[in-house]
Amino acid sequence: MDIKGKIHSYESCGTVDGPGIRFVVFMQGCPLRCKYCHNPDTWKLSDGKDIEVDEIVREAKKYKSYMKFSKGGITVSGGEPFMQPEFVKELFKRCKDEGIHTAIDTSGCIEVDKVKEVLKYTDLVLLDIKSYNDNVFRDLTGISNEKTLNLAKYLTEIKKPTWIRYVLVPEITDNMEDIESLAKFISGMDNIEKIEVLPFHKLGEYKWKELGYNYELENIPVPKEEMVEKVKTIFKYYCPTLV
Ligand code: SF4
Repeated sequence: MDIKGKIHSYESCGTVDGPGIRFVVFMQGCPLRCKYCHNPDTWKLSDGKDIEVDEIVREAKKYKSYMKFSKGGITVSGGEPFMQPEFVKELFKRCKDEGIHTAIDTSGCIEVDKVKEVLKYTDLVLLDIKSYNDNVFRDLTGISNEKTLNLAKYLTEIKKPTWIRYVLVPEITDNMEDIESLAKFISGMDNIEKIEVLPFHKLGEYKWKELGYNYELENIPVPKEEMVEKVKTIFKYYCPTLV
């Protein structure tokens, strides 16, 4: 019997989660509770639709010519896709058989041993490091950054191509010393291909209200362009080719 996953949704022509044009699968379930999450409707695993690997592969294959032309592929995002490692492994295995590039967008909050098999079929990891400062990370997400940093080290060990993503939130993740510590950490990793600084936005705020959750960042502004540039400058200083 084909493996089923708990899926929130999928979309055919994503352009922001990895290279080229991508088929993006939003998996259901996440162990974090990030204050800036724009997909709080993906948090509860049980809210997902049961979908077989076969259906996703069949849908994704329809866009193979776009993927080929744009050097794109498939990305699993979420939620936290590593919460369903068996499903993602099977999906990626089938995509590799079809010659489709595979990427996973993850917070990295997972035991390394649970995802080693998935990583064998993963071409690119988009790793969100929400803060290098554990106190800030805990306050922002509800848990420690230990697993994320462990996964980052493992990805370097196995030389897995990785992009680092950093969401810049004024008053929360804009501490320049924390950013400098993260930049130094990344500079010691030779598997990193890119660093993306993502300015905080409030596009998901309405979902928090619809779900009856308390959105704490209501009064936090989006970052000014100068702040984004300053943060990029720090990353560029330590990792000149990655920003
Ligand atoms: S890891 Fe992603 S999906 Fe999970 S709470 Fe944070 S922003 Fe939302």
